[in-house]
Amino acid sequence: MTSIRRDGEETRFLTHINDKCVGCGICTSICPTKSIKNGPILPIARGLVDMDYININKNSCCLCGLCASACPFDALQFEINDKNIKEIEEYPKWAKDAEIDTDVCVYCKACERACPQDAINVTRTLPKRENLVVGEIDVNQEKCINCKICEELCPGDAIKVKQTGLETYETVIMRINVFTV
Ligand code: SF4
Ligand code: SF4
Repeated sequence: MTSIRRDGEETRFLTHINDKCVGCGICTSICPTKSIKNGPILPIARGLVDMDYININKNSCCLCGLCASACPFDALQFEINDKNIKEIEEYPKWAKDAEIDTDVCVYCKACERACPQDAINVTRTLPKRENLVVGEIDVNQEKCINCKICEELCPGDAIKVKQTGLETYETVIMRINVFTV
């Protein structure tokens, strides 16, 4: 855990809590004095090296608090006169606006599973089987040459080419399954 404290007209205090940090690097890119460096994220995450995800240069940090205001995981906390800046009304807040284009979304739920903040909730209703695409299919037994290609290709095992006599075959549609996502 890194912490920097400076006392003056006001007391400013920055703390990095590595247990909450995921090494996303948002703070690194936002810091105006380039005081934050990312560590080797993958080896740290795998426990191969014992280091914090980020390193803050205490000499160049000007204690502006921007990093703490931007950290989505509250892994950086910044206080002015013992008050967390997120509770200080005058302190700038980051404008954010996440939109979902429902014309394009296929409700796969990938975002819901991935969101570290559980901020996304996907509700989906699957249609009943009988409301899926329906149609008709038949086999012209006159044209069928019993090659069995259709039987091999059908993913639903819906077609059977049966031998009904010594030299007679019959192609039968067993069932039709048409799936939509
Ligand atoms: S923004 Fe927060 S979680 Fe991301 S690297 Fe910085 S301290 Fe860690
Ligand atoms: S307090 Fe400001 S200067 Fe210090 S590390 Fe955070 S963003 Fe950089």
